[in-house]
Amino acid sequence: MNKKMDLLKWVFHINVFFVAFIFILGEFILPKEIKNDTHFELFEAPWKIIRQDGTTMDIRIPGIYPAERNEIVTVETVLPEDIKENLFLCFRSNRQDMELYVDNELRQSYSTEKSRLFGHSSPGAFVFLKIKEGDGGKTLRVTYQTDTAYSGNLQEIFYGDIMGIWSYQFKERGEELIVAILLLILGIISILGSWGLHFCYHKPLELEYLGWGVTFAAFWMIADSVFRQLLFPNISAVNDMAFVMVMLLPFPFLIYMNEVQKRRYNVLYVVISALVALDIVVCITLQFLNLVDFSDSIAVFAGFCGISIILIIVTCIMDCIKGYIAQYKLVAIGVLGAAVACVIQLVLYFQRIANSSGVMIALGMIFLLVISCINTIRDIFHMENEKKQAIYANEAKAQFLANMSHEIRTPINAVLGMDEMILQESKEPNVLEYATDIHNAGKTLLSLINDILDFSKIESGKMEILPVNYDLSHLISDSYNMVAKRAEEKGLEFILENDTTLPCKLHGDEVRLRQVLVNLLTNAVKYTKEGSIRMSVQGRRLEDNQLLLQISVQDTGIGITKENCEKLFDSFQRVDEKRNRNIEGTGLGLSITKQIVSLMQGSISVDSEYGKGSVFKVEIPQHIVDDSPVGNFSLKMDAIIHEIPQTKETLIAPEGRILVVDDVDMNLKVFFGLLKQTQIQIDMVSSGYEALEMVRTKKYHIIFLDHMMPQMDGLETFKAMKQLKDNQNTETPVIMLTANAIVGIREKYIQEGFSDYLSKPVQRKQLYNIIRKHLPKEYILDSEEVPLLAKEKSVEKVEVIEEVEAIEKEENHNVTTSPDLFTVFDFLDTKTGLMYCGDSEDFYLEILKTSLDNDRTSLILEAYEQQDWQQYGICMHSLKSTSLSIGANKLSERAKALEMAVKEERLDYVQQEHDSFLKEYQELLQKIEKGLVSLQAGNMHHRP
Ligand code: ADP
Repeated sequence: MNKKMDLLKWVFHINVFFVAFIFILGEFILPKEIKNDTHFELFEAPWKIIRQDGTTMDIRIPGIYPAERNEIVTVETVLPEDIKENLFLCFRSNRQDMELYVDNELRQSYSTEKSRLFGHSSPGAFVFLKIKEGDGGKTLRVTYQTDTAYSGNLQEIFYGDIMGIWSYQFKERGEELIVAILLLILGIISILGSWGLHFCYHKPLELEYLGWGVTFAAFWMIADSVFRQLLFPNISAVNDMAFVMVMLLPFPFLIYMNEVQKRRYNVLYVVISALVALDIVVCITLQFLNLVDFSDSIAVFAGFCGISIILIIVTCIMDCIKGYIAQYKLVAIGVLGAAVACVIQLVLYFQRIANSSGVMIALGMIFLLVISCINTIRDIFHMENEKKQAIYANEAKAQFLANMSHEIRTPINAVLGMDEMILQESKEPNVLEYATDIHNAGKTLLSLINDILDFSKIESGKMEILPVNYDLSHLISDSYNMVAKRAEEKGLEFILENDTTLPCKLHGDEVRLRQVLVNLLTNAVKYTKEGSIRMSVQGRRLEDNQLLLQISVQDTGIGITKENCEKLFDSFQRVDEKRNRNIEGTGLGLSITKQIVSLMQGSISVDSEYGKGSVFKVEIPQHIVDDSPVGNFSLKMDAIIHEIPQTKETLIAPEGRILVVDDVDMNLKVFFGLLKQTQIQIDMVSSGYEALEMVRTKKYHIIFLDHMMPQMDGLETFKAMKQLKDNQNTETPVIMLTANAIVGIREKYIQEGFSDYLSKPVQRKQLYNIIRKHLPKEYILDSEEVPLLAKEKSVEKVEVIEEVEAIEKEENHNVTTSPDLFTVFDFLDTKTGLMYCGDSEDFYLEILKTSLDNDRTSLILEAYEQQDWQQYGICMHSLKSTSLSIGANKLSERAKALEMAVKEERLDYVQQEHDSFLKEYQELLQKIEKGLVSLQAGNMHHRP
């Protein structure tokens, strides 16, 4: 196929050569076929000049015969006998008014005195005299008069028909017109292109000025060309315009070069530009007042043009010396080309080789413009590239932050949990002191990580608002509770007031709203030493059953200065650092708050008096769900607080029915092990198909569904369940089990219709929390057991208890982790493994055993050999979480990397890693087996 295409390319090129050959042969070698019946010749008659005193002198035309300004120069000749009627004599006025007499009869005249707006002379033009019958032998008298230096400057005379005369002009001066038109087109394209790019990139381009310069020059060339009387009806006006344009010409070039040279010589450019501007104003004024014509003042202007060119060249040379020229190499080459073209033009002009006055200059300008366009396009590519890289880097940063925060959160939770146990169990004062320090530092770290996670979510546009119906009083009491304790510790009065007629139920993102309020309240407590904090909740009803919720948090704290108020909401911006240096913070809170408020279509403002206190006001529109009045918060607060059940220490629900779907046996075992204590009835199946079977036959309270499963994955199973006709579990909450703990995943699953998600390896605390949340309350038996009321617990304790289940403590004092276990399995992160097994050694050993039964080697090998990458990815996905849950962190990481590689189709990585990964996996299994055998053999002792 490729060869055929190559052959076709050859045929194409041969045809092109053939066409060119025919053209050259036909037009340059073969005889002329059409004879154009035109006539043209130079009129070279003997002329006499008649002076005012009546004396005469023989002269030749063209020629220059000195005369005063405004002097009437009269020349005379006798028309040849054989001069043909209906042909023309064509005279060129050199800014002169002309009158043409044949035997004293005025036959033709030229003057723009009556039709021009300004000035004292007529612009140059061709004047045609038509020969009549019998004109041969008659006297032809021509008078020239002008108020310019061109008095007595007599131009050549042509004889022929109109077509012949203009054809001659076109041959002589046509290229000037063509080049000028080309220049005009390029100039306009550059201007429009620059505007377009300015619009796209919000950045002005200096190329626009070069475009203007070139356009002016082109217009000047067209307006000054011999063809202007064919193109423009009023050549006087065009002539005036051409002069103004030529005067403006240095401007755009100076602006362009000044920008290209990054304004290094700004002063010089400004001075010269100012002088040019002054010259223009003076010249235009003199012309408009009819005092001095442009044609006379042009000499001064030419001087400024020269100075501008010198300035450009000198600055380029200076940049060359200083080494800056590298920044605009291409433009410098363009300037050099244009300068060389100008020099050639001058040489041609003085050698009288070229007739046309500006072709070389115009070509030089085209060269400069083209080079500058290339330079601009190159810059834009460069900019685009940098932009892409910046976006990529930013995305990578956000993703990295999100992943890191997520990963860091897990161990911090573990640290805080363990620390809480120490706080609860230890009696030693110094240990308690250390534990308190750990607790405080851990909490700070946790909130910092949460802030970073939120920040990265916002940065990457993944922060979503998930509206739900909520109780306004709960929202307020939750927020109040979270800071009340701290306010009390600092001795601050915490006042809560509200409009009692506000609706009791609203629709909006309760979680984010609470985050906003807690942040403002925490800041108020943080930055207030004494006095009070007042939270006021008001509202304004809007159309469409909407309420503009208006919440203000006022404090009597350190306050913020006016200028600091403006930067308060910027990321990482902490203000008044000197005064606040002892107060912990990152400067992220208010930035996140503001972004969340904006996402909810609301607004936030601050009003503060330095040293006296601040008021932060938030206004957010919320939909009204139930308009019954909410009542007085302060009065209700106690009751509300008592209503809120806090995290229980145990979870017993023998009547609860749960279905767990996971293709990996080991995961099912972990699940089962973690829930053993709860007495919940658990059905476990290992595929989507079996799950569909189960939901038809039995009603469950919660279904846990693994995401990555072979054949039918979690999402597909979920969808199939929904469509199933005899599904008894249409209302049952379905929780997604996933090892994809990445930003925004929760929102994604919720959008898909899942009730929640649980990340793997499953941790007991989270599992219990999720079951508590979704299992109907009547099935939870421990509700009567010591209800923990918010008031009884300090807020901080409540938070920490969320981190660590008391049940863990119960088990823990039974489990004194045997150092032997650590020694036998020293190749594993036994602590993490134990944590995932609820710190039960037995359970951990069981899971280790299961990991042997669950050997995936053959599956992995099969998938690899058959290049079934989907299956390979699924194996890696499950290995990722199962290895982590036994503490084989490194293997888990490698599985994760391989899973990613399969997803991104980086098969070379898979091929490179596959063998060594399998080797490591098998070695691990062998070591586990050995360890288990040695334990069983009774060499090791661990407590049952
Ligand atoms: P931080 O983590 O530093 O508290 P924020 O974004 O929440 O970050 O706040 C930014 C800065 O605004 C704080 O460092 C503090 O200087 C100032 N600030 C915030 N709230 C108050 C307040 N209620 N009173 C005085 N200053 C405040």
